Amino acid sequence: MLEIRNLHARIADTETEIIRGLNLTVKAGEVAAIMGPNGSGKSTLSYILAGRSDYEVTEGDILFNGESILEMDVSERAASGLFLAFQYPVEIPGVATMQFLKVALNEQRKARGEGELSTPDFLRLVKASAADLQIDIGMLKRPVNVGFSGGEKKRAEILQMALLQPKLCVLDETDSGLDIDALKIVADGVNALRSPDRAMVVITHYQRLLEHIVPDTVHVLYKGQVVKSGGKDIALELEENGYADIIGAAA
Ligand code: ADP
Ligand code: MG
Ligand code: MG
Repeated sequence: MLEIRNLHARIADTETEIIRGLNLTVKAGEVAAIMGPNGSGKSTLSYILAGRSDYEVTEGDILFNGESILEMDVSERAASGLFLAFQYPVEIPGVATMQFLKVALNEQRKARGEGELSTPDFLRLVKASAADLQIDIGMLKRPVNVGFSGGEKKRAEILQMALLQPKLCVLDETDSGLDIDALKIVADGVNALRSPDRAMVVITHYQRLLEHIVPDTVHVLYKGQVVKSGGKDIALELEENGYADIIGAAA
């Protein structure tokens, strides 16, 4: 479903290469974890997948269901079923979360050739999904992410993901800033979306999240490359020994 081939990328208008020959394959139905020390390029990879214009791909390719997405802009990528949850969710003052979700969902439905949801149908859907994530409806009347706590922002993102039903979900450090109860709620929300025709890329610095979202594969990112890939045992190894061994082997 996702194939990243020899990807090189830098910050636009600079010589600073952050992604340096990255290879990664994620199959439909798979939950892949990307781990790595701070500064290894995890967030940069998620921004590049999203299509942010402040990064520039200089070599390699990103294929989504066999087609290159490099020439697609942010909204085309979203319409094709790619969903990104960022480490630092953006605030949108002046737009109520509920309204934002409704527009996002109807755009997605349009892209899939489905009709617009009526307001009552939308409300029913949102209320059911919000209840699963223990989100108070009052929160959804507030502007997107404005004044939300860390945990509320992450829940709002998982709610958006649950509504949109994307094909490929990329979650960047969804665990950061979450206490253990919020972590479990968010992990349950992600697990509920696991499906044979959907893939997930879960980016995390810590093993903790992977106790709740058990990955099929783990890839360690270091200095912009995948330096080790394998099963979920890698996460346990990292928990015990830290990144030193893997980094030593890669250096
Ligand atoms: P991670 O998410 O793994 O902690 P990041 O992708 O955030 O890592 O950062 C990778 C590297 O790129 C870091 O060294 C960071 O300082 C650098 N970097 C990322 N964005 C920028 C930017 N806009 N300008 C300069 N350096 C950047
Ligand atoms: Mg970081
Ligand atoms: Mg990061």
